[in-house]
Amino acid sequence: MAKKCDACGVKRAVVYQRHTGRALCLDCFRRDMIERVKNEIEKWNMIEPGDRVMLALSGGKDSYFLLEAAVELIGSDKVFGLSIIEGIPGYNREDDVKKLVAIAKDLGVDVVVTSIREYIGHSLYETYIRAVRRGARHAACTYCGISRRRIMSYYARIYGANKVATGHNLDDEAQTAVVNFVRGDVLGLVKMHPLFRSVDDPEIAAPRIKLLRKIYEWETASYALLKGYPLQETECMFINMRPTLRAAVREALYKVEQERPGTLLRMMEALDHALAPLVSQLKPEKLGRCKRCGEITSPKRSLCKLCEILDEAGIERPLYAKARPLRLKTLSVPAQPVLAEGEA
Ligand SMILES: [Zn+2]
Ligand SMILES: [Zn+2]
Repeated sequence: MAKKCDACGVKRAVVYQRHTGRALCLDCFRRDMIERVKNEIEKWNMIEPGDRVMLALSGGKDSYFLLEAAVELIGSDKVFGLSIIEGIPGYNREDDVKKLVAIAKDLGVDVVVTSIREYIGHSLYETYIRAVRRGARHAACTYCGISRRRIMSYYARIYGANKVATGHNLDDEAQTAVVNFVRGDVLGLVKMHPLFRSVDDPEIAAPRIKLLRKIYEWETASYALLKGYPLQETECMFINMRPTLRAAVREALYKVEQERPGTLLRMMEALDHALAPLVSQLKPEKLGRCKRCGEITSPKRSLCKLCEILDEAGIERPLYAKARPLRLKTLSVPAQPVLAEGEA
């Protein structure tokens, strides 16, 4: 006979949660994860009345649970999604995004789909190849990460979102924490804390919130699988260019977690606790403006990071979107979107 759920005792158990030692049915598994997200939101005051939250949706396994959790805990009328197509040959993101948009629509959430090409004028692959030909030494992931970050702030501003929720999960966060430790980067550690704000004006840069920071990667993956959500089948061709330190940390943490289930959760809980007093001592930085594109830059820089790496790739006049805001069903677009030039 199939094992019954350890929480409700009624339904058939479909997952074994190693860190709690419980076998759970799909409903109780979902509720357990939703509760953990809710706790994080409340503990760090991640959501306040009147917030408009942009969900950064990649179309991967984390996207689906992020979407469901946001709808349940924030409300479908207060969120919208953004999906960015990188433009990497063989990485079939268009299809993943189409499925995601349809599922989001059923949940009452609009998703804005854009691409690196639309924003910069060149796809990620084209940008990277140009850079390589000119002898630039950055990995493709650097171009991808910096472009996506910028595109996110741009769309958050256009659509008046004052928070950006990303799909970073517990595994991602624990890996970043250890990488910061290994590098001796205390500031990097403090900046990961949910109370940290890099800029105090949300109009300039909407703060990022990581709703899934206490949810294991295997949990979002299992949930997507059990719910029958489409899982990304193709892998990015640049995956092996990811930093090797991170890959080693990932491997090591995975091993410890296998031997001592709950390690990642306990580690992040301890860090949250230990770093909280340091966060309040850290003042938001006075940021500069890029002399080329007008976006914010780190203090004492004349060019922003994106303009700088595009410059190295020989792209001196990036498009920088000028995209016409799409009409959203659930959210009205602010009357005068900053920096956007409407095309008829
Ligand atoms: Zn149950
Ligand atoms: Zn710039």
